[in-house]
Amino acid sequence: MNAPEEFDVIVVGGGPAGSTAATLIADQGHRVVLLEKERFPRYQIGESLLPATVHGVCRLLGADEEIRRAGFTTKRGGSFRWGTSPDPWNFLFALSPELSGPTSYAYQVDRMTFDDILLRNAARHGVEVREESAALEAVTTNGRVTGLVYSDPSGVRRELAAAHVVDASGSTGRLHGAAGGTRHYSDFFQNLAVFGYFAGGGRMPEPDAGNILCAAFDEGWLWYIPLREDLTSVGAVLNHDQAPRIQADREGTLRESIQRCGIVRDLLGDTERITEGTYGSVRVRRDYSYANTRFWAPGITLIGDAACFIDPVFSTGVHLATYSGLLAARSVNSVLAGELSEERAFGEFEGRYRREYAVFYEFLAAFYDMRQREETYFWTARKVTNMQAEDMQAFATLVAGASSAEAALVGADTLAQRFGSSSAELTGAVERTGAARTTSGERMTELFRAPVVADVMAEMNRIQRRGATGPAAGEAPLLDGGLVPSADGRHWVEPDAAPA
Ligand code: FAD
Repeated sequence: MNAPEEFDVIVVGGGPAGSTAATLIADQGHRVVLLEKERFPRYQIGESLLPATVHGVCRLLGADEEIRRAGFTTKRGGSFRWGTSPDPWNFLFALSPELSGPTSYAYQVDRMTFDDILLRNAARHGVEVREESAALEAVTTNGRVTGLVYSDPSGVRRELAAAHVVDASGSTGRLHGAAGGTRHYSDFFQNLAVFGYFAGGGRMPEPDAGNILCAAFDEGWLWYIPLREDLTSVGAVLNHDQAPRIQADREGTLRESIQRCGIVRDLLGDTERITEGTYGSVRVRRDYSYANTRFWAPGITLIGDAACFIDPVFSTGVHLATYSGLLAARSVNSVLAGELSEERAFGEFEGRYRREYAVFYEFLAAFYDMRQREETYFWTARKVTNMQAEDMQAFATLVAGASSAEAALVGADTLAQRFGSSSAELTGAVERTGAARTTSGERMTELFRAPVVADVMAEMNRIQRRGATGPAAGEAPLLDGGLVPSADGRHWVEPDAAPA
C-alpha cells in the first residue's frame, strides 16, 4: 500500500449522522473525507422525523430549504392507539409549550431522498464524498486512532490518515470496537421489526393525516407512516422470540399482525402491498436496541447508530443521529482549533449524548410500560416492574459511562423507582387526555405537564430554537461543570467565555 493520504478528519458513513458531522466540520475550513460503502441514493428505514432535526440541525447545515422543497409529508405529531383508551390520541408538536409556532412540525421522509439531500449538501460544503468505499479497519498508533484502511470502488485497499475519525457507519459498521468499548444490548427492548410498503391506504382525518400512527395490539404494535399519497410504510414490532415465525414467512407475519390490529387493518383496507423495486420486499430488523460502553477514544468518535439506538416507537433515531453529529462536530472543531483538550471537548460530547439517550430511554420505557387493554406476554414482559435487576444495573452503568453527571442514576432500585413513576405519570396524563375531550389544547397540556415528557422536549427545543432563530445568548451548561455552545453553535466554549 502507498503512503496514506492525509486529511484533518475522516467520517465513515453517509447517513444523517455522518453528513451532519462532516458538513459542520468542513464548514470550518477543515479537510474532511467521507467514506460511504453504498452508492446513494440507498434504502434505509427510519422515516418519521422530529422537529429538532428538520428545523434545528438541517437549518444549521443549510439544507432546510432543499428539504422543504422536496415535498415530504408534513407531520404535525404522532397519533397513538396506545394505553387503555380504545380511541387514538395525539401528541402534537404545536401544543408543546416551547415548540408552538411556525416550526412545530416535522416530515415523514423517504430516506433515499432525505439522506441523499444531506450527503450532496455535505459535498457542496467541501466534504470529499467517496461512495462505494467501505472502511475496513482502524489504524492505531501508540493507542491512538490515526486513520483507517478502506476498500475503494475497484476493491483496492487504501490507507487514510487524519487527526480524527468519526464513525457514523450505523448499526452494521465495524469500527466501533476501535473506541475500546463493548456493545451492550438492552434486555428491556428485545423487539424485532418486520415491515413493508403499501400503495396508498387510508389517512387519519385532517389535520392529523400526516401523523405517524402507532397502534398497540396483543402481540406488539404497528407503525403506519404516510410517506406519500401512494406510499405507506407499515411495520410490526414484535417480541424477539417471533424470529423463527418471521424467518419462515415474513409476509405472512406482517399480514397477520395487520389483521390483529383493527385501526391499521381498516386504514389499509384492500390496499396492495408493493412487490417490486426498492419498496417491494418485506424486510426485518432485529438486535437494534443497544449502546456502546464508550463513545470516544483518542482519535475516534462514535455517533448515530454506530454508538446507540433505542427503539422505533417515538421516532428518535434520526434525532439522536443528527444531534450526536452536531455534538461531535463541535468537539472536533474545538480540538482542531486548539481551543480545548480532547478530554474536555469529547467529555462534553459524551456527557450530553448519554444524557439525551438516557432521557429518551426512560421515556420510551415509560411508553411501553403504560397500561394497555391487553395483558399478553408482549406487554407483561415490557412492564418496568418486570425488568430484571441486572438489566437495570447494566443500563445504569451504561448510561453513567464516562459522564459523572449521570452517576446519580446508578443503582437498579433508584432506576426502577424512577422509571416506574415516569410511566405512572405518562399513563395518568394520557388517561386524563382521554377524559378531557373538549379541546385538543387541554388534552395536550396534560401530556406536556408530565415531567418525563418535559425532559424529552427540553434539549430538542434548544437545538430547534438555535437552528430556527440563531444563537441562544447566555445558554447555561447542560452538565455540571460543562461547556456551552459558541455563539455560532459550531464549537464549545467555557461558560465564562460565552457572551451573556
Ligand atoms: P445510517 O442511516 O444507518 O447510515 C450509516 C451509513 O454508513 C450507511 O449509509 C451505510 O451504508 C454506511 N456504512 C456502513 N458500514 C460502512 C463502512 N464499513 N464503510 C463506509 N460506510 C459504511 N428513526 C427515526 O428517526 N424515525 C423512525 O421512524 C425510525 N424507525 C425505525 C424503525 C426500525 C425498525 C429501526 C431498526 C430503526 C428506526 N429508526 C427510526 C432509526 C433509524 O433508522 C436510525 O437511527 C438512523 O438511520 C441512524 O442514522 P445513522 O446516520 O447513524 O446511520
